[in-house]
Amino acid sequence: MTERLYYNDTFLSEFSATVLDANELKRENNHSTWAVKLDRTAFYPTSGGQPFDLGQLVAESKSGVALESAVTDVFEDEQGEVWHQTSKVIPPGAQVRGHIDMERRRDHVQQHTGQHLLSAAFIQLLDAKTVSFHLGEQVSTIDLDTPAISAVDLVRVERLANEVIAEDRPISVRYATREEALQMGVRKLPERSGEIRLIDIQNFDLNACGGTHARSTGQIGGLILRRTEKVKQGLRVEFVCGLRAAATARRDFELLSESAALYPCAPADLAANITKQREEARQQQKQQARFLEEVAELKAAQLLSEVPAAAGAKRVISQVFCDRDASYIKLLAQRLTKSPSVVALLASSQTAPTLVFARSTDLSSDMGTLLRELVTAAGGRGGGGKDFAQGGIPDASQLESILKQAKAKLAT
Ligand SMILES: [Zn+2]
Repeated sequence: MTERLYYNDTFLSEFSATVLDANELKRENNHSTWAVKLDRTAFYPTSGGQPFDLGQLVAESKSGVALESAVTDVFEDEQGEVWHQTSKVIPPGAQVRGHIDMERRRDHVQQHTGQHLLSAAFIQLLDAKTVSFHLGEQVSTIDLDTPAISAVDLVRVERLANEVIAEDRPISVRYATREEALQMGVRKLPERSGEIRLIDIQNFDLNACGGTHARSTGQIGGLILRRTEKVKQGLRVEFVCGLRAAATARRDFELLSESAALYPCAPADLAANITKQREEARQQQKQQARFLEEVAELKAAQLLSEVPAAAGAKRVISQVFCDRDASYIKLLAQRLTKSPSVVALLASSQTAPTLVFARSTDLSSDMGTLLRELVTAAGGRGGGGKDFAQGGIPDASQLESILKQAKAKLAT
C-alpha cells in the first residue's frame, strides 16, 4: 500500500517517491490519460467530503531530461490504493519528485478542519448531529439531522467556533482501536475494525478522520456561516473558513458599497433607505391612481358633453387613444357608462393594441359577443360579460376600423 505522507505532515509540499505502477485510464483524440501509483505520496485523494490535491510529478529520464506531468486528479480504488491521474506516462521504477499545490491544500485544510469544529459546536450547543459534509468550489456545506435552527442559534454556534479558533487550541493526531475509540467518546466512528486515526481538537472535539488538518485551530483563520436550506435529511448549512471567509466578506462589502452608492448613502443606512424609498413609491402610486381617476372622470364628462343626449336614443362614445394605456381606457369606460344610455367603444394603442366595449346598465346590447366577434376576425382574442368586455389584437392600425364596425352593428 502507498505510504500516505500527509497523515503525518499536512504541510509537506514536496516529496520523493518511486513509481510502482502506471495504467492508461483513457484515450481521447490521440491523447492518453494515465493513472500512476507511487510507493509514497503527499497527494490527498478525494474522500470524506474533501477533494483531491493538484500539483506535479517530475521524473528524470535516463538522458537527464526532466519529465514534468501535471496531476489532475487523485483517487482511491476499491482496494484503497492511491492513484495519481497524469497527462504523461511515467514508467514503473522511475524516481519522481512530487509538488503539491499548497494554496489549494491550505484552502482545503481550512474548510475541512473548520468543519470538524463546526460539527462539534452544533452538537455542544444544539445537539444537532452532522450527517454529511461537502467541500465545494465556493462554499462548503454540512447537513444536520435537525429540521430548523433559529438565526440566533446560528450566530451562537458561529461565535463558539470563532472563539475556539481565537484560542488557537492544538490539534493532534492519535491512533486507537475501535474499542479504545468508543471509550474515548469519539464523535463519529467508522464501521470498520483495525487501527483508527483520531483528530483531537484539544478539549473540544475528538473525531475519526483520514483527512488533512490544521496544526492548531488558529490556522482555520475564522469561520462565517452563510445561508441554510431545508434538505431531505434535515438542514443544510453553508459555511466558509479562513481566506475564503475573508474573500467572501470582501465580496459582500463591495456589493453592499456598490448598492449603497446607488442611493447614495452609507452601507449601514442602506436597509433604512430602501424601506423609506419603497414607502415613498407606494404613496406616489396611490396618488397617481387618484389623479388618473380624476382625469378619467373629467374626460368622461367632456366626451359626454360633446355627444348630447336625445330622448330615448343611446349615446355611443368611440375613440382610439394613442397616449393612454389599457388600464386608463378601462377606467374611462367605467366612468362613461355610469351615465344612462351610454355605449363606450374605446381603444388604446400605447402599448399592446387593446379594445374595451362597455355599456350602461339600462341598455341591453351584448358587449362580450360583439367584441369577441370583431377581435377574433382581426386575429386577436377577447371577451367578457354583456355590459363590459375587453380584448387585444396584433395590429394597432385596425383599431379605428373595428370601432367603426362596432358602431355600425350597434346602429342596426
Ligand atoms: Zn478530518
